[in-house]
Amino acid sequence: MFDPGFCCCSQPNLYKYCLFFFHKMLCLGIESTAHTFGAAVVDGSGKVLSNEKVMFMTEKGEGGMIPNEVAKHHRQHRDGVIKKALDAAKAKMKDISLVSFSRSPGLAPSLVVGLETAKEIASKNKIPLIGVNHCIAHLEIGNLTTKSKDPVLLYASGVNTQVIAYEAGKYRIFGETLDIGIGNFLDSFARHAGLGFPGGPKLEKLAEKSGMKKKGGIIELPYVVKGMDVSFGGLLTNLKQKFDSKRYKIEDLAFSMQETVFAMLIEVSERAMAHTGKKELLLGGGVACNSRLQEMARIMCRERKAKCFVPERQFLIDNAAMIAWLGVLEHKAGIRKDINKWDIDPYERTDDVEVKWR
Ligand code: AMP
Ligand code: MG
Repeated sequence: MFDPGFCCCSQPNLYKYCLFFFHKMLCLGIESTAHTFGAAVVDGSGKVLSNEKVMFMTEKGEGGMIPNEVAKHHRQHRDGVIKKALDAAKAKMKDISLVSFSRSPGLAPSLVVGLETAKEIASKNKIPLIGVNHCIAHLEIGNLTTKSKDPVLLYASGVNTQVIAYEAGKYRIFGETLDIGIGNFLDSFARHAGLGFPGGPKLEKLAEKSGMKKKGGIIELPYVVKGMDVSFGGLLTNLKQKFDSKRYKIEDLAFSMQETVFAMLIEVSERAMAHTGKKELLLGGGVACNSRLQEMARIMCRERKAKCFVPERQFLIDNAAMIAWLGVLEHKAGIRKDINKWDIDPYERTDDVEVKWR
């Protein structure tokens, strides 16, 4: 154990600064961009000591994510989740030397819960605070846990659908959705079909039961790729109309929908890899939990002799470990700001952030 008695300084904050250099620093991460409130403890070397979360859900029917309801949910659960994260890491609040929260992008009411919680903890315990970009956090936790080095990230989540890669000091967006995120598209269709939220996993199960899978058939659906971008709005209307017509089985619609939208995502990812010359594809976001999307990604990578990296589920979905880890990286790179100056930025784009830690 590192003994504070041998530390070059006696002040508590300087002592924590020393811990940081010895990789003993502990960062508490707080995630609250959308449906998930998460808390995690990660050390200065990237060891994930805990990763707890609670997710806003509805069972059946039309209920979706109402921003103020989600924020209320996060407020109710935040203290319990943070306590669980500290307990699981066998840490006390006094052991924490940095607080990192997701400042962007996301639903403003949810982001505010994370900001307020993080500020309270940092002020009360007199520790530095750092606010990080959620999309970039997905990429950095992928690099940490899969050992990818310079990947093209296919980030397929609820609100976000982007193909991101590093170039000239920033994580650039090479392609993205022109309207709704892939996850919201899946959830919206699932809600229309009375399946509840989140809909992606339910549609995946239905797709597996489709007779078309064996027979090799498919229901033709709009395939909308515009250059490097994708669009799901028209496809969603088309699917809802098909569902309402009662001429199709929901299993076959789910199967054909997955084949179509995932092919669109893989096409733009492959084009980004060809354009940048990168030889790694990394998956991120909750929709990347889907086995068919993973299978398509692996096939594409094999065909172009590239590597495909899929983080474990807890790091694909929204999680606070990635927020803590990006906080560590940015803090180590010297990024500092007064606690009271941190704010949320619901519309910040990935390429607004200067990458100082690579
Ligand atoms: P995220 O915002 O990254 O946490 O991802 C949440 C989204 O992932 C929701 O829209 C879910 O419906 C979707 N999702 C989760 N698991 C799956 C799955 N197995 N297949 C498709 N979508 C999924
Ligand atoms: Mg996410």
